[in-house]
Order: sequence, then structure tokens, then C-alpha cells
Amino acid sequence: MTVDVLIEININKKDKTFTYFVPDNLKKDISVGKRVLVPFNKQELEGFILKINKGTSEDLKSIIKVIDEDSILNEELLLLGKTICEDNLCNLVSIYQAMLPKGYKASKKSNVKEKYVNYLSIVDEEKALNFISTSKAKKQVLILEELLGGDKELKEFSYQTVNSLIEKGLIRKYQKEEYRIKDEVREKNVHKLNEYQKEAFNKIIESKKDIVLLNGVTGSGKTEIYMALIDEVLKEGKEAIMLVPEISLTPQIISRFKEHFDENISVLHSGLSTGEKFDEYRKILRKEVKIVVGARSAVFAPFTNIGIIIIDEEHSNTYKQDHNPRYNAIEVAFLRGKTHNAKVILGSATPTIESYARAKKGYYELVKLEKRANNASLPIVNIVDMTKELKKKNRIFSDELLLNIEDRLNKKEQIILLINKRGYSSYLMCEECGEVLKCPNCDITLTYHKSSGMNRCHYCGYAESNKGICKKCNGSMRLMGYGTERVEEEIKKLFPLAKTLRMDIDTTSRKGSHEAIINKFYNHEADILIGTQMIAKGLDFPLVTLVGVINADTILNLPDFRSNEKTYDLLSQVSGRAGRSDKLGKVIIQTFNTDNYAINLSKNHDYEKFYDEEIKVRKRLYYPPYSFIALIKVGGKDFKETINESNKIASYVRNKLRKEIVLGPSVSSLSKINNIYYFEIIIKYRGKEEVRNVLNEVRSLVENNNKIKVEFDINPSSF
Ligand code: ADP
Ligand code: ZN
Repeated sequence: MTVDVLIEININKKDKTFTYFVPDNLKKDISVGKRVLVPFNKQELEGFILKINKGTSEDLKSIIKVIDEDSILNEELLLLGKTICEDNLCNLVSIYQAMLPKGYKASKKSNVKEKYVNYLSIVDEEKALNFISTSKAKKQVLILEELLGGDKELKEFSYQTVNSLIEKGLIRKYQKEEYRIKDEVREKNVHKLNEYQKEAFNKIIESKKDIVLLNGVTGSGKTEIYMALIDEVLKEGKEAIMLVPEISLTPQIISRFKEHFDENISVLHSGLSTGEKFDEYRKILRKEVKIVVGARSAVFAPFTNIGIIIIDEEHSNTYKQDHNPRYNAIEVAFLRGKTHNAKVILGSATPTIESYARAKKGYYELVKLEKRANNASLPIVNIVDMTKELKKKNRIFSDELLLNIEDRLNKKEQIILLINKRGYSSYLMCEECGEVLKCPNCDITLTYHKSSGMNRCHYCGYAESNKGICKKCNGSMRLMGYGTERVEEEIKKLFPLAKTLRMDIDTTSRKGSHEAIINKFYNHEADILIGTQMIAKGLDFPLVTLVGVINADTILNLPDFRSNEKTYDLLSQVSGRAGRSDKLGKVIIQTFNTDNYAINLSKNHDYEKFYDEEIKVRKRLYYPPYSFIALIKVGGKDFKETINESNKIASYVRNKLRKEIVLGPSVSSLSKINNIYYFEIIIKYRGKEEVRNVLNEVRSLVENNNKIKVEFDINPSSF
């Protein structure tokens, strides 16, 4: 017997499997989808068994060890991987690795194991009772009495006393596996759907379509509907997957699910330790849970009888992985939905233009929820023209925003301020020569961080201490623009009595710090929460009645055809944080672009109108949904060589795809990162098959070209 094994060696090259001999003693353990340890060059590596062959060959190397007791990649996932690979031009091995949490990936050595805990139990009840009634050893008696009530953990007792009892043969020690995340028992908390929610629910259940778009304003109760839908699926004995953006996986949403479904749920997100992930995943493999809630990669949960896949905030760009393998979890959900005959629900207050267009055309069932639950009204939105404020020397805060902050502080209500830039300043510029301080590795401006006194690159992590002097002319550097740190500082100056919290990557990098900030704010230990778009999603703080957007133009100015859509999303999402209970909420949006339709239309929470405007622009410029987009990203260390190779690729593609639009090569929006130069070739197309074939040809052509590295991005989430 021999097996074909897939090993991760070079993910930029096409996949190749290697054949190994299976020694007799391992034959019974072999099956497709398990990991094995094999010799490779001078190392020992783990790989996945993809195929079992009869017959044998003497000169093959042997497998060293079979790692898994059961297949960790089942038939469905093995096949799914192949489809994803073909659709996205990535490697099979990288997709299989992406499907699995750390601890289940094939790697040089797996070091995550089950966690075992030592327990104590009584050996013989009668003997124990006898000892209790006759012995004078008080401590020993106490332990026996406790253990008579049930087994207990070893660590609760003194080591010495336990040992004497074990020596006497009265108690014994044993090991029990324990999950790293322990759930406290929660009070069950189930809401009845209101009449609008009920109507939406029925429409979804009765729909004959495979995909449903649930377009409900923030706070309309989409989450309540998801839970009701999952209830139905559980009644049929089936399983459910619910995806949420990483950042919304807050304790709030997790406890709502746990209150509703008790322990029937496994939660997967990047905030878990490797061991915790390993345990949560095993609950699924062992069929101990029927529901998974998680970020992008939870779409690969190894369920075998899926009844529904829900994607909350479907417009979120986190569903597309922005590094290799560049898969889109929503497309994976569609594939799995088909295989399992399960409905896929896309939910959002602000769907992507593409999804909404498909729903309007009838490819998806369109279900709307236009009212907030609990009769809470949508907040009032005011747009403030910052060009006028600037004349009054108001650089960061408008008069109106300051007045409202003061008012809410007086009323003991809470405030959220959004500023989409972390750090202190946006960039540093020399007052003498105008030189802007940039990262030496990337073509990106450095951001000043006051707390650490460092200038940092937000792309590669480069940091240098801030000298305040221009490297070119020795002039003094001036801090331009502002980030979260600066806004917090200014607020503290203006409102010295107000308690503030800041939430951005810098304050949430430690495990648990994200939750800690949310809990503090929820418990009203602070009045003002200042943060990047991290604060815009999914949070529910009943006391927040004012949301201020310090600068609505940050996203608008990005060179991205979705910049209007992303601006509208962000403004709606962050507005959705205001006035979620009985108190009316207010939103103040500061901008230099008062004419922009995305900013203006977010005022009336009128997604439909925004869609009507945006779809016209997409049509005029031949952007999705009128075309598909593929990106060829060429990177290389040598500027000249990289552009030459990019030109060659572009002409090849142009020649082959005469009907489609091929743009570039152009300098990518981030032209140099980590000392690698990047060029982009963009294809706007309709012929899916044809383009895929040509891209595959390009892939083969450049595979052995060591001068450059080529990556493909099908339907990129931004460019
Ligand atoms: P969405 O997911 O659309 O933003 P949620 O499901 O989070 O909306 O609902 C918003 C708030 O209203 C939550 O606090 C939720 O508990 C409450 N809510 C929603 N529907 C109901 C209902 N039918 N009965 C009671 N409370 C509800
Ligand atoms: Zn850098």
C-alpha cells in the first residue's frame, strides 16, 4: 500500500503530491483526509493523505506516523477545496490549511494537545465511611466527606493529605479531559418575534430560493430572526453555521447566542488561544454541538448535515481573505449551501451593491425590515460643514459637536466618537521644505504615536523614535492631521471631568483587552468611547445617545471604486450605535464634502436611494455588478525588472482577452511595501471561464520566474 501526501512546501508553486510507502503496522490507521508525518529532504513534515494506492514500490520512503485518529478533512471539504482553488487560482494545500484551526493544520510539529485535569474519587464507599467514623485525622476525613458528594479536582486539596489517602487505598487519582472554555450556566432568554420580524421570518422559511438577502436597518432584530431560523433547523436535526465579522464577535453577541442555545454551540475566532480553538473545533468533530458562530474560516466547520448558513453584515470586507489563499467565505457558503441543500441567509443594513442588485433581479429572495425593534426610533443625523468650522479655527471639533457632548455629559448619557485613524497625527511634514516623513521600507507615511514617542508604519510595523527634525533639511517637523490618540487628548483638555476610553488596534492587541473596553463602557465606567471603525459594528450600548464622526472623508478619499459604498456603510453602522433604547439618538457627521451623496443619503437611513445613485455610477464606469474584476499583482525587489515582467504579462493578457478591458500595469496604491515594489494589472470582464483560463496560463508561465512573485485576486475587496 502507498499513499499520496500533500505537503506545504512552497505555496507560490502549483501543488504536487508525494507518494510514500505504508508499513504494515500503520495500514489499519490509514484513511484519506488524515495527517501523516513523513520524511522530506532532511526534515520530518506533516501532510494530508489525499489518495490510497494498491500495490507497492520498494524504493519509496515510508510514512513515519499517522497523526489523526479520524479524518480531519472529510470528503466534502476535500472536494470543496479543489473548487475554491480553481475559482481563486490558489494552492490546494493553502486552502486545506485555511480550513483548519491551528493545532489541526499540517505543520512541522503539532504541539497542541487535549488538556487533562487530575481528579480524585472514592475507591470504596463503605471503607471510606468506616474511616470517617473511626479516624482522628481531621484533614483526611474532610476530603473523604467532600468526595462522597462527588469527584473533585485534585488541585483543590493539599497534596500531602491526598497522598496519605491514596496510600491507604481509600481514594484514587484519575485524569479527565477538559475543554479550555468553560461555560457558566446562563438564564435562558428567548424573545418572541414582533409582527414585522414574524413576517420576515415566514417569508424566509417559505422562500423557494437558495439565497435570501435580509435587508434590515440596524436594531431591527436581524439577530433575533437568525436565532429563530436556527431553532427551526435544529428541530429538523440539522446543523447551523453563522458567520459574523471578526470584530463583531464580542461577548455581547456570544452571550446572546449562549443564552438562547445553551451549550449547543461552538465559537471560533482569532481572540481564542490555540488550545481554546483546538477544543472548540473538536466539539464540532465529535458532534457535541450543532451550531457554530465564528469569523470567516468558520464557514469550513466540519459539519455533515448543514441546514442553514447565515452571514451577518454580509457587506463586510472581512469575508474575503486579503492574503493567500484569497477565498471569499460568502462564495464558499454558496458552494456548501448547494451541497447540503441548505439555505444561505445574507443579512445587512447596507448590503453590497452587488448583492442588492442580485436580490432586485430576483436571484436572491429580498426580505426587508424597515423598523427598529422595541419601537426605538432611528437617530437624527446632522451633517456639519467643516470648511466653515475651519474658518472659525475649529480643526477637530465643530461647535455643534462640542455643545452636544457637553449636554450628554450633563445628562449622564454616553457618547461615541469615531475617528478612522489610530495614533496621534496622520503624518509629519517639514515646515521648511515640505518633506513628508515616510517608511524606509514602504511608500507610506509614518504616523506619530505620542504614548510611545514613536513614528510607526501601519503596514510593515517599522518604528523609529520621533526626533522632530527633518532628515533632509534639518527643519522642524509638524504634526499634520489627527488620530484617536490626539482626539482623546483634546477631549480630556476640553472636558477634564469626563472619563474616556480608547479602542483601536493599539489598545486592543492584548488578549481580552477588546472585551474589557466594551464591558467597561457597557457598565458606564466611562462617558466617551473614542475609536476607529472597530467601534462601529454590532455593539449595543443602551445609554449612548450621541455619536460623532470626526472626519467622514477618510474613506471617501481612498482610491477604491467602493469608497462611496464603504463610506455609506460606515456612517450607517456607526449611526446605528446611537439611541438603541428608549432615548432618541443623535449623530453628528463632520465632513469637507457636504455635497457627496453617500454622506448626504446616510442622513435619512435610505439605503434604497443610495443604491439608486451608486448603481448609476457603477454602470457608467463598468464596475461590478456590471463587470467582474480580477487583479494580477506583480511584486519584485528590482524596480526595473518588475515593471518589465509586468508589461510582458499585461501584453499577454491583452492579446488573449480582446473582448475584455485590461488596465495597467500601474503602480499599485501601495507601490512599495517591505522593500518590494508592486504593480497591478486590472481586468474588468464578463467572460468568467475565458478569463480564468488565461489567468491559469499566466500562472504557469510565471511559476518558475524567480525575479517576480505574482498573485491573483479575483473580485478583490478593495483596490
Ligand atoms: P440587528 O441584528 O438587526 O441590529 P438585534 O437583533 O440586535 O438587531 O436587535 C436590536 C435590539 O432589540 C436587541 O437589544 C434585541 O434584544 C432587541 N430586540 C429585537 N427584537 C426583539 C423582540 N422581538 N423582542 C424583544 N427585544 C427585541
Ligand atoms: Zn513600512
